[in-house]
Amino acid sequence: MSEYKITLSEQDLPRSWYNVIPDLPAPLPPPLHPCTGQPARPDDLRPIFPMALIEQEVSTQRHIRIPEEVLDILRLWRPTPLFRAYRLEKALGTPARIYYKYEGASPAGSHKPNTAIAQAYYNKQAGIKRLTTETGAGQWGSALALAANFFGLECQVYMVKCSYHQKPYRRTMMQAWGARCVPSPSTETESGRRVLQEDPDCPGSLGIAISEAVEDAMHRPDTNYSLGSVLNHVMLHQTVIGLEVMKQLKLVDEEPDILIGCCGGGSNFAGLVFPFVPEKASGKPIRIIGVEPAACPSMTKGVYAYDYGDKSGMTPLLKMDTLGHDFIPPGIHAGGLRYHGMAPLVSLLHRHGVVEAVSYPQVRCFEAAVLFARAEGIIVAPETSHAVACVLDEARRAKEEGREKVIVFNLSGHGLLDLGSYDKYFAGELVDYEYPDDKIRESLAHLPKVPQE
Ligand SMILES: *Cc1c(COP(=O)(O)O)cnc(C)c1O
Repeated sequence: MSEYKITLSEQDLPRSWYNVIPDLPAPLPPPLHPCTGQPARPDDLRPIFPMALIEQEVSTQRHIRIPEEVLDILRLWRPTPLFRAYRLEKALGTPARIYYKYEGASPAGSHKPNTAIAQAYYNKQAGIKRLTTETGAGQWGSALALAANFFGLECQVYMVKCSYHQKPYRRTMMQAWGARCVPSPSTETESGRRVLQEDPDCPGSLGIAISEAVEDAMHRPDTNYSLGSVLNHVMLHQTVIGLEVMKQLKLVDEEPDILIGCCGGGSNFAGLVFPFVPEKASGKPIRIIGVEPAACPSMTKGVYAYDYGDKSGMTPLLKMDTLGHDFIPPGIHAGGLRYHGMAPLVSLLHRHGVVEAVSYPQVRCFEAAVLFARAEGIIVAPETSHAVACVLDEARRAKEEGREKVIVFNLSGHGLLDLGSYDKYFAGELVDYEYPDDKIRESLAHLPKVPQE
């Protein structure tokens, strides 16, 4: 048996992020202004983002230096370990060699602090005093609360109301790190009040919470907005994951055949796979697979089109794989995968065949997660269970074909705050949602009317 846990020392922490933009197979369509339909100018974003992040959003520089102040905090849990899943391989009887990158090691328990820390830093540098954001199940809200706390910023989180009541513990984490968390729709914004007037019992959605957080940031000069996925700068900050994995695989003299990650807005997946895109482009036969929920299948069933990022149409239009901005996904337990769109960078790579997409229904994902927990010990987040389900299928295929394959996946977070979902699974109460064909068709009919090419 060779190494079980492949660790790097602090000196191996990447000093630069990798920007995939110069290595794309085609130019990235620009974001459009939500009112004029013309390409958005950097100035349009200034009311809610600091200039440094706007520059990163459009940068064509391949490597972007990570500030020392950011490295100093990432160091608290990075580099994260890469594990060889020997026990899982044995349980499956597969000739595949399976590796997983453990992003559950951060204080918030997921990959999300990788970008939260960087975003809080650049906002602090720009003289901002307060950050707003939205959160579904609470992973992003807690990551930003952690980051804001380190840089002495106030933080207000609009949390989707049904999760606010169902998932109290991530709200407690936000409070422990000093953030203020309010259920959305709230009475604190015009967008929230408008929704409540129509439906006082509205359970909320990510789209509504984004509208509230953006409105709040637009109305206060001391406040900016922060987004935990989808945008180019978020993908950029997550590449520390894949950059570390490259070094770790070299240490054990391995090259990946298959890279796998779960996809909500696409950031943990991008973080793992983007650094491998140039290798694939230069001819290495690497399969790159993004896994999404069958109930919210933006890549496998959506269209590649310009759409809003939020419900009220306040954000710029992004060209992406989308199910339509007013699609409200069924209440699956992987709250972090319930978003109508996919990151423009991931969508473009999907469109050009660099990235494959598959979807899984939630019961199969929980089955896979329990098998994984019994073999490897780690109880994964419901989001991550989608990646695990795909890994099991690929490992079984390798067994059928009698081929040694190297499979690497991103274990985006642990599930220790999601045990209520596991409880439902064990009680046999989890159901698979029908693919919401009608609802998706209806919401795709409401795509913004702009020239799509
Ligand atoms: C938020 C979250 C996701 C989904 O977001 P991406 O931007 O697609 O990575 C996946 N896994 C975990 C643990 C999360 O918290």
